[in-house]
Amino acid sequence: MNIDAGELVSWYEQAQRDLPWRRPGVSAWQILVSEFMLQQTPVSRVEPIWLAWIDRWPTPSATAAAGAAEVLRAWGKLGYPRRAKRLHECAVVIASEYGDEVPRDVDTLLTLPGVGAYTARAVACFAYSAGVPVVDTNVRRVVARVLHGQADAPARARDLDDVAALLPDDATAPTFSAALMELGAVVCTARAPVCRSCPLSRCRWRSAGYPAATTVKRVQRYAGTDRQARGRLLDVLRGSSSPVTRAQLDVAWLTDTAQRDRALDSLLVDGLVEQTNDGRFALAGEGEIT
Ligand code: SF4
Repeated sequence: MNIDAGELVSWYEQAQRDLPWRRPGVSAWQILVSEFMLQQTPVSRVEPIWLAWIDRWPTPSATAAAGAAEVLRAWGKLGYPRRAKRLHECAVVIASEYGDEVPRDVDTLLTLPGVGAYTARAVACFAYSAGVPVVDTNVRRVVARVLHGQADAPARARDLDDVAALLPDDATAPTFSAALMELGAVVCTARAPVCRSCPLSRCRWRSAGYPAATTVKRVQRYAGTDRQARGRLLDVLRGSSSPVTRAQLDVAWLTDTAQRDRALDSLLVDGLVEQTNDGRFALAGEGEIT
């Protein structure tokens, strides 16, 4: 069985969401910014921050000039703040080595800070209309259901080759890639696929009566985790225009002091926080590193 490109592409052309990074005039850099933000954060939370972001820093050079600390502040509550630091590093490289233009080909994109297999192909496809496979969890799930009759599938090394084999051999390939992702995001969702709205007339999982998943997915909790502790500490630093004392950080997470120390250590190791010569703490780029 294959995925009918005609069915999928026609559906996408009339059903795709009007997302701001899909509108005409959006640059490759701005699309790259959206992909960094969307990696682990839902569209609804990304949208307002992305709009403010590209208004303030429309180009790699503007982002690079802003400095890492301002970028971390603007990242706000998007979570996983290492992405913000990597995005700033990526902006510096593109501004200084690529004339402020995002490279077009996947191999060069893969050399940029913070750009992995998914982001490189997403930028090549969505910004430059390259006919390359773009594989995220949504695509993996749709392919598992339609072609293999399974509820879901874990990431595998051959995913890219498998999805590449599905791409139509013509100019609709980039649209097909975008459509596959969109189908997984809005119709063939993990918990409640809306099969009555699905454009695909053939689907093995549906034909087989929706056999249950054989693996149980871990639900990621946030409350009480090291991630939450890191977020609280970063909030203190984001809210201050000058370095803060250890005591100011300590009151941000009183529940578990060992966890707080571990969170602060990891922020220092990740380069998101720096220690000043007098022992205070600051966002990256705002402290003198001892
Ligand atoms: S028929 Fe249902 S399960 Fe199959 S691809 Fe469409 S939405 Fe997903």
